[in-house]
Amino acid sequence: MNIWLDGNLVEESEAKISVFDHGLLYGDGVFEGIRFYKGRVFRLEEHITRLMDSAKAIVLSMPWTHEEICRATCETVAANGLSDGYIRLVVTRGAGELGLNPYLCPKPSMFIIASSIKLYPDEHYRNGLKIITCATRRPTPAALMPQVKSLNYLNNIMAKVEAIQANALEAVMLNEQGYVAECTGDNLFIMKKGEMHTPLISDGALDGITRAVIIELAEKLGVPVIERSLNRYDIFTADECFLTGTAAEVIPVVELDKRTIGDGRPGPFTQQFLGAYQELVNSSGTPVR
Ligand code: PMP
Repeated sequence: MNIWLDGNLVEESEAKISVFDHGLLYGDGVFEGIRFYKGRVFRLEEHITRLMDSAKAIVLSMPWTHEEICRATCETVAANGLSDGYIRLVVTRGAGELGLNPYLCPKPSMFIIASSIKLYPDEHYRNGLKIITCATRRPTPAALMPQVKSLNYLNNIMAKVEAIQANALEAVMLNEQGYVAECTGDNLFIMKKGEMHTPLISDGALDGITRAVIIELAEKLGVPVIERSLNRYDIFTADECFLTGTAAEVIPVVELDKRTIGDGRPGPFTQQFLGAYQELVNSSGTPVR
């Protein structure tokens, strides 16, 4: 496997980061998860824009331009001879002194891995996920901005631990006020009376690229989209529920906290959006060469 590291494609065994890197010491850095299908990177521009915005929000000045990062991403996929897979792009604060001060880290590091990912077994796309609400809350934006896709994922990991311990594959995370923010690695949508509802970004969700694509598709299909605060009541009483994410794509949810959603099967809107999404990813994107 060839890894892109600070400007060079190197063998996996040569792709090394310093133990003094603040990305490792403090989770000080940002990342992106991107998919490519049939040799084309899906929504590359949007992912790199979010990466640059995340970096800007944490005062990490990038030595690479948007275009250079897009090129490096495509180069990494091409160098590995892959046609379908998942890209993990990580920017760390770089090596510095011990201590939090990011200004003592002179040079950020960037690495890009092109590999594969399988989040959920196929049967869950057919039958739907059974998920739980976890006790771990999304941090308030006053503590950690939810739009920043930072290397600080411990909050989501602790929520994921709760899900796994409850035999579930995902967990709904509420914000401090008890409103639904998102799941540990996916955005959440419900369908009610033919309308699509999804939590506001300001309720603690990551501004998901897949979320934006689904909203676009809904608007194209004439489905009204309402971004508003949702609570568990809205999910319990929804006709349908589904999650979106780069890795998960669109996955139905049929149960929350042992309560059946709708008729307990993936609903027609969910199936329509999953189909439309798959069609789109297979027919668009930035060619890697
Ligand atoms: N929320 C969280 C916390 C995430 O980590 C992700 C990405 N896995 C998402 C939502 C979905 O975002 P995207 O559609 O951009 O992958």
